[in-house]
Amino acid sequence: MNGSSAEERYRALRAQLRPGVGLIAVSKTRTAAEIMELYALGQRDFGENRVQELIAKAEQLPKDIRWHLIGQLQTNKVRAVLPYVHLIHSVDREKLLDVLEAEAHRLGKKVDVLLERHIASEESKAGLDAAELEAMFTGFEAGRYPSLRLKGLMGMASFTDNEAQIRAEFSGLKREFDQGVERGLGWTELSMGMSSDYLLAMECGSTLIRVGTALFGPRAQPQ
Ligand SMILES: *Cc1c(COP(=O)(O)O)cnc(C)c1O
Repeated sequence: MNGSSAEERYRALRAQLRPGVGLIAVSKTRTAAEIMELYALGQRDFGENRVQELIAKAEQLPKDIRWHLIGQLQTNKVRAVLPYVHLIHSVDREKLLDVLEAEAHRLGKKVDVLLERHIASEESKAGLDAAELEAMFTGFEAGRYPSLRLKGLMGMASFTDNEAQIRAEFSGLKREFDQGVERGLGWTELSMGMSSDYLLAMECGSTLIRVGTALFGPRAQPQ
């Protein structure tokens, strides 16, 4: 991205998108002006990892932006964020599903969610293990979350140069996604791929890539 403008980076990335893959511009730490530059080029899906930042930007920026919450969600922030959020990618525990259901019901709203699966080798990364995921399916199949729409899975690969490892992690998630389709979960979205690995993620079947640095340049504060 040496010397290239945001517009050039955006057009180059759009040209790489496989058919059916959606691009979420990850705008955490970016200013309203930086977001509006991509908005003017037609981008409508933006991702934030903090609730307060998402709400502040949603209130200030055009109403047809679709805001994706991609970071950890605390149960005490669910009520505040629901009116603004288009898709929550980071559901990582049952308690959060229960609170989401209660608040969505209260608002009389259907809320779209992805379940975040732990696929990386790093323990530090968030996400559900296989048994926790299975428990959540059981809850959905039992009709416990009538106000939530289970749209798919999200995952983050390991932070490594080892392409074979990343491919194995993405492919494993894709298999679980396909198993969910066979099971009749009716989901359609597989959110995987960031600046460093979105090409691999698309090869492995991603339907939503979440790209920050490759669009906006390096972040001042690593998050
Ligand atoms: C920050 C972030 C991204 C984007 O990361 P880049 O490397 O800047 O593309 C994607 N997904 C999640 C969950 C993030 O927190």
